[in-house]
Amino acid sequence: MPMYEFSCNNCKADFELLMRGSMKPVCPECKATDVRKKLSVFGMSGISKQTSSGSNCGSCHKSSCSSC
Ligand SMILES: [Zn+2]
Repeated sequence: MPMYEFSCNNCKADFELLMRGSMKPVCPECKATDVRKKLSVFGMSGISKQTSSGSNCGSCHKSSCSSC
């Protein structure tokens, strides 16, 4: 379920909301609809650097390099 982080333009509160369907984000503090969507909470996860443990050859990417 997508959860988004919002920042209220009215009272400057930060909050998270689950967005379902076409519901509009409302600030839980002041009930204002003038809110701004921030970056997704789950958007930055899942991206990690791949550690190349098998291959040491930088030019042909083979584990047993005999050509270079
Ligand atoms: Zn607010």
